[in-house]
Amino acid sequence: MEQLCPRCHEQQVAKSSTSNVTRQAGLVGLLIARSVSSYNCPACGKIPLAEFPEEFQSGVKKKRLFSILGAVGVFALVIVLLFVRELM
Ligand SMILES: [Zn+2]
Repeated sequence: MEQLCPRCHEQQVAKSSTSNVTRQAGLVGLLIARSVSSYNCPACGKIPLAEFPEEFQSGVKKKRLFSILGAVGVFALVIVLLFVRELM
């Protein structure tokens, strides 16, 4: 997703990468890191999500929702598979 910086309107913002610490925290840590990660402009630095246009914000929120739903879905699937295995 490419988005121009809301401050200078010249540079494209990039999502700040998650640190090694959050990666080691596993899936939940990654999800938390994702939900709080901010965007960086090469010229202006960190830009909070609130400064972006409404359209971009809702797109990011939708992405987050889907990533959380996906994680929950995989988790539920694993539980179901384990449960089915127990019954067989
Ligand atoms: Zn900028």
